[in-house]
Amino acid sequence: MSSRPLPLTAQAGRMPPAATLRPPRRAARAETPEPLPVMRPRLPSAAEILPYLQTIDEARWYSNYGPLVTRLEQQLARRLGMTAGGVVTTANATAGLTAALLARRAPAGSFCLMPSWTFAATAHAARAAGLIPWFHDVLRNTWALDPAAVRETMKRLAGKVGAVIVVSPFGAPLEIAPWRDLEKQTGIPVVVDAAAAFDTAGAAPIPQVVSLHATKILGAGEGGFVATADPELRLRLVACCNFGFLATRSAMLPALNAKMSEYHAAAALASLDAWPATRALHLRIAGWYRQTIARLAGVSLQPGYGDGWATSTTSIILPRGASERVSRHLRKRAIDTRAWWGQGCHVQPAFADCPRGPLPVTEELGASVLGVPHFPDMRERDVDRVAEALMNAM
Ligand SMILES: *Cc1c(COP(=O)(O)O)cnc(C)c1O
Repeated sequence: MSSRPLPLTAQAGRMPPAATLRPPRRAARAETPEPLPVMRPRLPSAAEILPYLQTIDEARWYSNYGPLVTRLEQQLARRLGMTAGGVVTTANATAGLTAALLARRAPAGSFCLMPSWTFAATAHAARAAGLIPWFHDVLRNTWALDPAAVRETMKRLAGKVGAVIVVSPFGAPLEIAPWRDLEKQTGIPVVVDAAAAFDTAGAAPIPQVVSLHATKILGAGEGGFVATADPELRLRLVACCNFGFLATRSAMLPALNAKMSEYHAAAALASLDAWPATRALHLRIAGWYRQTIARLAGVSLQPGYGDGWATSTTSIILPRGASERVSRHLRKRAIDTRAWWGQGCHVQPAFADCPRGPLPVTEELGASVLGVPHFPDMRERDVDRVAEALMNAM
């Protein structure tokens, strides 16, 4: 998966003089190529965070829903246009998912239907809430669960389904209404893993869990939040993130400590100040990739990628089975790649014993999807270099 850094010496001279997208730049080729990392996050600078830190010094309030966390929750709720319910900040999205499952009273020991085509955190979070991950296949044209297919599976399953986690693939927008219908018709709660979907998550009663990890598009180092338009659920969520305490110091609900500290809220607020600029940088990169990848035969982008929504990663689809070879080819040219979700969760040892249905699309994606360089200060010529290397590899 993750590629080790390779020595870069003498690689440039060995680059094959194959067809290029643009006229070859001979001068640049003679030099050792500058390494292109698959990701290089950039969070707010110390100077940008400092004014927030100074308010912490003054308030002497460091965690437990202090002034900065409260401000962040209000700003996020306003941004989502929430008139009811609101946002609950969390230590990270994984803990936020567990807290959301607990707050939705998903019964321990039941199955939690989820895609295998996701990051390991989704399955870990269900386990931590006492549920058993049950891996479902995704649709090829969205990379996400299909509500109709999930409903059919639920009818056939012998064991009890206690919850469904729908995952936004790499931040792609999801249609929430069909999941709301499924909830109403089956009584089974749905939670959205919108970890990478800061740009596309919306306000709905179904809780949407967003990550503020450094690698996501709005970074706070570690952090996350849950948005729900259901006011009662929001209160239970706060309790489930804070030892199960509601009005008193008596634990009323199964819970964890998933609170965000004031220091992380400081970083998150500074990130939020820069959000319009950050979003524009990522959309610009997406635009460059859309243009160049469209010219490559046999390579395509994640469905809907860059179509009015921004994310912090770029994943391409290669011919089945080619990703390993292409990754090696790019590495020789100092271009880092990563199969962000590997071959799915079901092949990972920690989840080998989890029940699952047939996973043909997941297997196909696992053998053909590869993350390519994407970082905020990436330049157009970097994207061209990736595309050129891809073309040579194909
Ligand atoms: C990043 C990610 C997570 C985990 O988020 P953390 O804030 O690091 O806990 C969960 N699910 C998906 C789909 C992710 O991409």
